Amino acid sequence: MSFLEYAPAPESRAVLSLKPEYGLFIDGDFRSGSGESFATISPADEKHIATIASASDADVDAAVGAARRAFDKTWSKMSGRDRGKYLFRIARLVQERARELAVAESLDNGKPIKESRDVDVPLVAAWFFYYAGWADKLDYAGLGADPKPLGVAGQVIPWNFPLLMLAWKIAPALAAGNTVVIKPAETTPLSALIFAEILQQADLPPGVVNIVTGAGPTGAAIVRHPDVDKVAFTGSTGVGREIAKSVAGTDKKLTLELGGKAANIVFEDAPIDQAIEGIVNGIFFNQGHVCCAGSRLLVQESVHDEVVDRLKTRLSTLRLGDPLDKNTDIGAINSREQLERIRELSRIGEEEGAERWSADCVIPDNGFWFAPTIFTNVQASHRIARDEIFGPVLSVLTFRTPAEAIEKANNTPYGLSAGIWTDKGSRILAVADRLRAGVVWANTFNRFDPSSPFGGYKESGYGREGGRHGLAAYLKGARA
Ligand code: NAP
Ligand code: MG
Repeated sequence: MSFLEYAPAPESRAVLSLKPEYGLFIDGDFRSGSGESFATISPADEKHIATIASASDADVDAAVGAARRAFDKTWSKMSGRDRGKYLFRIARLVQERARELAVAESLDNGKPIKESRDVDVPLVAAWFFYYAGWADKLDYAGLGADPKPLGVAGQVIPWNFPLLMLAWKIAPALAAGNTVVIKPAETTPLSALIFAEILQQADLPPGVVNIVTGAGPTGAAIVRHPDVDKVAFTGSTGVGREIAKSVAGTDKKLTLELGGKAANIVFEDAPIDQAIEGIVNGIFFNQGHVCCAGSRLLVQESVHDEVVDRLKTRLSTLRLGDPLDKNTDIGAINSREQLERIRELSRIGEEEGAERWSADCVIPDNGFWFAPTIFTNVQASHRIARDEIFGPVLSVLTFRTPAEAIEKANNTPYGLSAGIWTDKGSRILAVADRLRAGVVWANTFNRFDPSSPFGGYKESGYGREGGRHGLAAYLKGARA
């Protein structure tokens, strides 16, 4: 317990004007779904937020039909310059309604308001601004002289960055002239539905973006719909595999952004204070619900004890609790199901012989919570070193030489991201070159920018989002 206590600093919910029920957003309007509606709750207290419609196969068919008409009649005919204007307008409206979106996101997802306010929502606006700028410059993107859109994009996204993943999917698709049917995750539909209101405010032509809520079967209906030209998925490797099977043998283009088990490599010459902050940001940002999280710390043996000691001291200062409190560092785990998975893998970690340490924080009575946890004495063969935990759990391994660090870092079925901490620029370049990971951060971690491509190797999926590369996934014949 620290000697300086913080007073509660809750962000006001008054900025939110929630409806008790939300329908499906199809052809520019909300309508009821023919599936069985479901509730979205706040994972911090398990309280009901709103009732959400569920899209049946017939509803998905209506959404795809609306997207097809909009593609044929308006969106693919419009000049890039005019499409860009709509994207700029959406970006500005996101900024105008930023506080409301941040509160909704933290309420529905459980992430700390300081993250939704300072990271998620600003990046959402940045993504729309960035791709707005591309809309009239596609001829100059190096993707062919007169690149053409694919048609209707079917997109399925996860719950960890609900609105940001929506922006990653929608912004490049629209900039390239495609229309969209998108499904947010079952536990976090709220910000997407507020975004639908923003599309109405922006006067986006009906059918250009359709937002259908529901569970896995709604996602599967989008993926297998014969009139969908492109499938973009972010989520687990297991579901990604099913989607790849379902798309195989069709003309659909596919991009998959799946899981990760990133190595964050700390060399003995690293600036240790910065590295500690980077390790914390790498795995405890967003409760570790981050596909590119630095979940495997590889630390050079000579500095292992110092790093682990300092890390424990730092973790003891993190504040876990109400996601809407502006001082909260660690929010709620998104769902009971995810909490169970984190608990199970942590139990296995102990069973396999790793040493567990958890920060001593007060866990609220209701809701889903997991204290920041470190495992030391972890062997490369342990489940906690191989499986994605997707929670606030760090596995610490050691190495002696750079070659061993590289070998251990690459010893994973995934290949999404990695981090390197060292004082030597030459070492950064040499090591980064040999890491089989889509993104490598040096002396920083979890940095995102719309101009920078993001994506994985191996079981982390294929295709790139962000930057010029991100456009290629939505244009005919284009390879970035
Ligand atoms: P998930 O079960 O794969 O869900 C992702 C999305 O797919 C959700 O909208 C889900 O709907 C939907 N879905 C489920 N079954 C489907 C099916 N058969 N066909 C089509 N869609 C289906 O993953 P999750 O458990 O929500 O998310 C955690 C995982 O996502 C982690 O493993 C993480 O690594 C990965 N992830 C990867 C990235 C990346 O960029 N590479 C980013 C974020 C998360 P419901 O929500 O209704 O089930
Ligand atoms: Mg929720």
